[in-house]
Amino acid sequence: MTEPIDLLDVLRAGLPRTGGPPRHVVIVGAGIAGLTAGMLLKEAGHRVTILEARNRLGGRIYTYRGFAGRMYGEFGAMRFPRQHRLGQHLIHERFKLPTQPFGMDDQDTFVYLHGKAVRRSEFGGASFEVPLPPAERGKAPGEILREAMAPLIALAAQPGGWNEIIERYDRYSLIGYLNERGVSEAALWLLGPLFNIEGRFHFSLVEWFAHWHDDVFGDLEYIEAGSDTLPQAFTPILMSDTRLGAEVQAIEQRTDDVVVHYRDAVGTPGSVTADECVLTVPFILLRHMEISGLDVEKWFTIRNVYYGRAHKIFMQFSRRWWVDDYAITHGVTVTDLAIRNVVYTPAGQDPSIDKGVLIASYAWEQDSMAYSMLDESQRIAQALQDLAKIHPEAAETFEFGVSYDWALDRHGGGIGPLFRPLEMTSRFYDDITRPVHRVWFANDACDRLARRWIEGAIASAITNAYAIHAGMRNALPAITEPKPA
Ligand SMILES: Cc1cc2nc3c(=O)[nH]c(=O)nc-3n(C[C@H](O)[C@H](O)[C@H](O)COP(=O)(O)OP(=O)(O)OC[C@H]3O[C@@H](n4cnc5c(N)ncnc54)[C@H](O)[C@@H]3O)c2cc1C
Repeated sequence: MTEPIDLLDVLRAGLPRTGGPPRHVVIVGAGIAGLTAGMLLKEAGHRVTILEARNRLGGRIYTYRGFAGRMYGEFGAMRFPRQHRLGQHLIHERFKLPTQPFGMDDQDTFVYLHGKAVRRSEFGGASFEVPLPPAERGKAPGEILREAMAPLIALAAQPGGWNEIIERYDRYSLIGYLNERGVSEAALWLLGPLFNIEGRFHFSLVEWFAHWHDDVFGDLEYIEAGSDTLPQAFTPILMSDTRLGAEVQAIEQRTDDVVVHYRDAVGTPGSVTADECVLTVPFILLRHMEISGLDVEKWFTIRNVYYGRAHKIFMQFSRRWWVDDYAITHGVTVTDLAIRNVVYTPAGQDPSIDKGVLIASYAWEQDSMAYSMLDESQRIAQALQDLAKIHPEAAETFEFGVSYDWALDRHGGGIGPLFRPLEMTSRFYDDITRPVHRVWFANDACDRLARRWIEGAIASAITNAYAIHAGMRNALPAITEPKPA
């Protein structure tokens, strides 16, 4: 049990044959973490009961299917990086779900700043009148960013470099670091919207750097039939063990077992007694749950895992003018308008009809908060007005819009966890993942490198399922990570 486990091997081959005695495991939450843990444990011979508050599987994987024809919109997860080997295994090998590329770079999209739209293909350092100091003048914004990141890039190339990066740079916010490297305020005006980092400025430098350095958005795909077909693929394996509409309210740990108390959709109480409980609910929601037997350090961490805000506003149009009139087939227009990012989603179109859908606004943190206080019709009207500044065709072809604000989702608690400075180093992070007696924690906050991704949720599900199967207590196995981060 001392050898680090390879998560992909476990996902592929199942939990080892030599486990402890069969256990009854109650899993709270039927998102991708709960479903993956449930599948592994059940297939290894354990009894599994899943309690899910919503009336559907998938959690933050949530496909809206209210558009015309076969069109759909991904309110939650929509892009799957090919470098995420665990997700790729589930999608391609295990469930054989057809996929298509989700390109992010379309040179026909726009950069819209200070009331002026410039095609990306024509965009350069001088496209906007930004008073850059002489040292930055004439440089492309990407070059300014790369130069600022040079010390971290050099470290990442060295053996053990990622540990060193965390050690040295965990204390920095992105903006604090850029500031220290002498990046001018004027350059930040450009870099913020262009690289979608304005909403990230005050969060962890290292977390942002890991995504940027690994170009995690560089090679993406979407599931042709919709992201929700991934959680639905678990139905034949787990639906008979899943109780939907069961909102867990308390977890009582006893010496030899654990009692999980819930209420059903009409408020009738129920409980399940089991040997172990895997909690996959986002940490922010645990504040509404009574859990006995957790120590002070664990509660400190639960309180301090930060969850970000985000919304998407989808619109249906009578025709796909972005393709016909602008030759845009995918990618993102970035703006300094309230809508911030327009995503020309290749996912969810129906080629058999003229109509099309796009994401008129995808924004995070404070940019999203600006919409939270608007009612639905105000959100749509405001977003349409912004969109028409870049694409006047939007106004006359608009049919309807629909928004989803994850900060207001009672069982979602925001888009997901974001590291702030000083939170990636060991003590705080170890407390996030640490199981306590019969309660185990598996969700997308419990993986350092792929946090806030489906990949991170799957990784933590495998790790916890493995530990339960192996009869571990208050500990998790060491894992081989793609990088030592
Ligand atoms: C807008 C948005 C965009 C995203 N984009 C991507 C992307 O493109 N690619 C990607 O890989 N990831 C993306 N993500 C992140 C990804 O969706 C999550 O990392 C992943 O789905 C988390 O899975 P999970 O099982 O840890 O948590 P969840 O999916 O949140 O599952 C937790 C489950 O617990 C249930 N629950 C909550 N409270 C209770 C309770 N009291 N009792 C019982 N059940 C309860 C919830 O209903 C939910 O089903 C995105 C997320 C959002 C919101």
